[in-house]
Amino acid sequence: MGEFLEEEYDILRESVKSFSEKEIMPLAKKMDIDDYFPVELFKKMGSLGYLGITVPEKYGGSGSDYFAQAIIEEEISYASGSLGLSYGAHSNLCLDNLYRNGSEYIKNNYVKKLCSGEFIGSLGMTEPSSGSDALSMKTNAVKLDNNYIINGNKTFITNAPYANVFLTYAKTDNGITTFLIESNDNGFSRGKKFDKLGMRGSPTGEIYFNNIKLDKNRIVGSYNDGKNVLLSGLNMERAILAFNSIGIARRALDLAVNYSIERKQFNKPIHEFELIQEKLAYMYTKFESSRLFAMEALKRVNNNKMDALDAASSILYASESCEYIAREALQIFGGYGYIKDFEIERLFRDSLLLTIGAGTNEIRKKVISESLIKKYKNGGL
Ligand SMILES: Cc1cc2nc3c(=O)[nH]c(=O)nc-3n(C[C@H](O)[C@H](O)[C@H](O)COP(=O)(O)OP(=O)(O)OC[C@H]3O[C@@H](n4cnc5c(N)ncnc54)[C@H](O)[C@@H]3O)c2cc1C
Repeated sequence: MGEFLEEEYDILRESVKSFSEKEIMPLAKKMDIDDYFPVELFKKMGSLGYLGITVPEKYGGSGSDYFAQAIIEEEISYASGSLGLSYGAHSNLCLDNLYRNGSEYIKNNYVKKLCSGEFIGSLGMTEPSSGSDALSMKTNAVKLDNNYIINGNKTFITNAPYANVFLTYAKTDNGITTFLIESNDNGFSRGKKFDKLGMRGSPTGEIYFNNIKLDKNRIVGSYNDGKNVLLSGLNMERAILAFNSIGIARRALDLAVNYSIERKQFNKPIHEFELIQEKLAYMYTKFESSRLFAMEALKRVNNNKMDALDAASSILYASESCEYIAREALQIFGGYGYIKDFEIERLFRDSLLLTIGAGTNEIRKKVISESLIKKYKNGGL
């Protein structure tokens, strides 16, 4: 990304790369096989300033920006897609939203601890009967004197089995309100942790709210204004999470190209066969174009937070490209690609989440098409 950004970002990238090589890569296989969530790495990422990268120093962050966050997301995902997913849920979906919309109380009591890694964060939106149609949630909060009583449950929540802090949404009398729920609130409980196809090591689970009583300090944003809290970050979330795909895709491309140089059949390295050359050509083209587009989309969303068209197209293309690249890389590895000893097997399984998590590609296409029609009705691109 050095071609697009100033030198300070290159320095950050080198530092995350070195952290990923030393700390994440040696654990990546264990995370996958044992579904092991490395809590200890969160503390280290906190001390290096990666968790609160978009948060000002006053609240425990590093005072950088979304470009820095995208670099961290890509480099962590290169080493482990599942840690990239958990990092994105913690640092972007939960922490950045709490910083942008939270009160001074929230910033002082929660944002600081999320920046240091003392607390792990989650975003609780999806429910058993409301996934794509998230706003039809059943979780509700009833106002009682100066408190709010919350009942409901959320499912498929990244980091939920370990998280201390949940940014969550509940129906209120005149809309939706965003609340911060703590794992030690009375009435909070965790349900099962899911056993997944891929992204293992990024824990996904259910949470239950049974008459949780909160005071107004736990409202994020304003009462009944949860829809705006949700929309305020949606485009940036998509623009950043595209780099989860890009990190995994870059790793798959690296492994496949190197393997095509080393592996010989018919007395030739396999990259000399035209059918393999075609694969490598498309893999590189899709990788480079999705990365260039993701960077450009991030810039546009950074300038205009309401740019749904670019945010949704960027993550749509990055996720489809990653799935394609991982699949083709597996094919280049032949039978070895199908064996768990080879990393590409994990990358392929991880890639399948990217078109589903954080909103499906069908919904992203719907958003793109609707934004496009709106733009054309107002004069075109
Ligand atoms: C590993 C993992 C991690 C996750 N992490 C989180 C998290 O941290 N926080 C959180 O809140 N959620 C999280 N999710 C949930 C995720 O956001 C949802 O799974 C996703 O939004 C889809 O919802 P659903 O699974 O209920 O599918 P549904 O909404 O039931 O969709 C089923 C199918 O119908 C399609 N469909 C639905 N509506 C339409 C439509 N209008 N037009 C065309 N097709 C449509 C969908 O694209 C899909 O193919 C996670 C999910 C997974 C698997």
